[in-house]
Amino acid sequence: MKFDPSTSIHDYLVFGEFGDVNPSITDSSTFTFMNPKKMEELFDHEIEGCFLYSRHWNPINKFLSNALARLEDTESAQVTSSGMGAISSTVLDICSTGDEIISGRTIYGGTYALFKNFLPKLGIKVKFADLHNLKKVEELITDKTKIIYGESINNPLLEVTDIPSLSRIAKKNGIRLIIDNTFSPMIISPKRLGADIVIHSMTKFINGTSDCVAGCICSTHDFICTLTDINTGATMLLGPVLDSYRAASILKNLHSLHIRMKKHGENALFLATEFEKLGLKVFYPGLRSNKDHELMNSIMNEGFGYGGMMALDVQTYENASHLMTRMQEEKVGYLAVSLGYFKTLFSSPGHSTSSEIPEEEQKTMGLSEGLVRFSVGLDNDITIAFERIKKILKEIKLIN
Ligand code: PLP
Repeated sequence: MKFDPSTSIHDYLVFGEFGDVNPSITDSSTFTFMNPKKMEELFDHEIEGCFLYSRHWNPINKFLSNALARLEDTESAQVTSSGMGAISSTVLDICSTGDEIISGRTIYGGTYALFKNFLPKLGIKVKFADLHNLKKVEELITDKTKIIYGESINNPLLEVTDIPSLSRIAKKNGIRLIIDNTFSPMIISPKRLGADIVIHSMTKFINGTSDCVAGCICSTHDFICTLTDINTGATMLLGPVLDSYRAASILKNLHSLHIRMKKHGENALFLATEFEKLGLKVFYPGLRSNKDHELMNSIMNEGFGYGGMMALDVQTYENASHLMTRMQEEKVGYLAVSLGYFKTLFSSPGHSTSSEIPEEEQKTMGLSEGLVRFSVGLDNDITIAFERIKKILKEIKLIN
């Protein structure tokens, strides 16, 4: 993996007496033109380095978008005001009434709700499937299928998606493969593995400080131009524009992403390994015993670990509640949704971020009500947190 956010961002800086080490924050919604003809031209097509109106593009959003395109090794990218803004704009740009999407059944609850409850109102049908079952995915394809949608490491069971195989199926059938890479920036590069569009909720690891909501779409130059088309583009017309102050702060946090991902991964691997030694049921792709461990090894970039997300099945919701309440009291971290923060966050997906998924479906996908999802933080000494958690696990008699 050759990407280094700091050197990539460096390429876009302006040097000289007016060259700031951090690019200036765009403080304008509109931009001046020296001649009306140029303005007319810009309504027709994008002109490099020329800005019209901040919902379309502005310098700092362009700057951050370029850095994200470098991160994902795509030709282009666009930042959005949330991960859901990125997902909804992308699918609405591609699909019209009558079209179909095949989606992984184990995905973030908000995406699931968009697909299950909202898109059908527009006549877009979503078929959910276990993306590990490639034969089933192929069987679900019809001439109306426009998208195969999955998460690189899925939420909340941390299953790894076989991006190369899905890409082969998508290409053979002229379908676009969209991968939400929120859980594994730097670790997995979906575009290099054959994905057409890579999405992030930047609210999570990319920003890393849980102080804002943001998203991005990384893809070809043509697709980003389609999204930003002044007359027909979904991001231009639906308007999920990222505030430029936020774009500037996310850009600064991006510089430390590689270091943070390594540390999140190191700490999560430690906890997962120790929990497994205690005989607990742990979901973490870095464990040799994990069903997707070999797949993960075959698609991941070297040097950034297996990610900061881990789940522990403590059998009952009562156990899960006790564990989470006590972990917060013992200062292991916070009982909060979301992920990618520098402190450890934990929640019970069945009763929070995945509660949009009906109970029956939760059962079929293996989402137990005793599941506790951890976003492992950047603790300097994770053994302290481990000892505290062990004490609580003894209280609830899960271990001796
Ligand atoms: N994708 C994944 C995997 C997520 O976990 C989330 C939010 O938790 C989203 C997308 C939605 O992102 P946002 O909350 O930034 O809209």
